Amino acid sequence: MGKPREWMVGFQIEITGYEGEDEWLEMYTGRDIAPGLFAWVIPNGETHRIGMWALPDDLDGHSCEEFVDNLMNHPLWRHKFENCRETARYCGPIPAGMVRRPYGERVLLVGDAAGLAKPTTGGGIGPGFQQVDLLSEGLSSAISKDALSARKMKKICRPLEQMRREQQRSRALRDFFVTSRSDAELHQHFEIFAKPEVIELINFQGDIERPASLGLALLKEVPEFRKIALKAGFAMMFG
Ligand SMILES: Cc1cc2nc3c(=O)[nH]c(=O)nc-3n(C[C@H](O)[C@H](O)[C@H](O)COP(=O)(O)OP(=O)(O)OC[C@H]3O[C@@H](n4cnc5c(N)ncnc54)[C@H](O)[C@@H]3O)c2cc1C
Repeated sequence: MGKPREWMVGFQIEITGYEGEDEWLEMYTGRDIAPGLFAWVIPNGETHRIGMWALPDDLDGHSCEEFVDNLMNHPLWRHKFENCRETARYCGPIPAGMVRRPYGERVLLVGDAAGLAKPTTGGGIGPGFQQVDLLSEGLSSAISKDALSARKMKKICRPLEQMRREQQRSRALRDFFVTSRSDAELHQHFEIFAKPEVIELINFQGDIERPASLGLALLKEVPEFRKIALKAGFAMMFG
């Protein structure tokens, strides 16, 4: 059935005693913290979850734990982590890139098994539900008729091609904004993100389940990004 185009490694610990702003998600990036992607600190009721994810090649032989340690001991932020105590840890692969053929006779791959996680955030729960929304009607009707041949499954799964295209677009935009950038370029990008008019655009257009539409809007409407994109041969993105 094929293999997911990318496999990331995700690692997360649960901690008590974190000193952060109430109900804020914090994100960190850079070569020493989360090369190519990002690390997060997310409130979870009385605890927080700290994690990072990366493409295995970008880990360059280091473990995800070392990068989370780097974050917790970074001179700029270590005061926030001083009173933290770990209560649990999670680690797992994140498959981001729909497999070539997520169906067969009487078979359907769903969620992570189909490689549906988002290349931009690693989130796989939203896309799993989106897949179910797209297929449930056709699939229930086919089950009622016991019409589940490979040819019928292919037809039922046609709407997934739209998810595949969206995933490819998100990956290209992620690479453009974050993954293929040096720390100095990332700094420059985040200075642009922090401009009031760009924050306004992000607040208006941003939808974590549909990252490609915000990415495209940033390329089209923020002159600094437009210039960099055109230089990088991203003209096809404007089509
Ligand atoms: C550290 C980390 C943090 C993450 N954070 C987020 C997040 O914040 N938001 C988000 O959306 N996603 C997140 N994800 C991704 C998310 O966890 C997955 O995308 C999601 O769990 C996929 O759901 P699933 O049902 O497709 O697969 P799974 O959750 O992997 O479920 C598959 C189930 O099938 C069972 N199973 C396997 N083989 C068999 C068998 N032969 N017989 C019976 N049962 C079997 C497994 O035990 C498992 O319970 C994170 C992943 C990691 C690693």
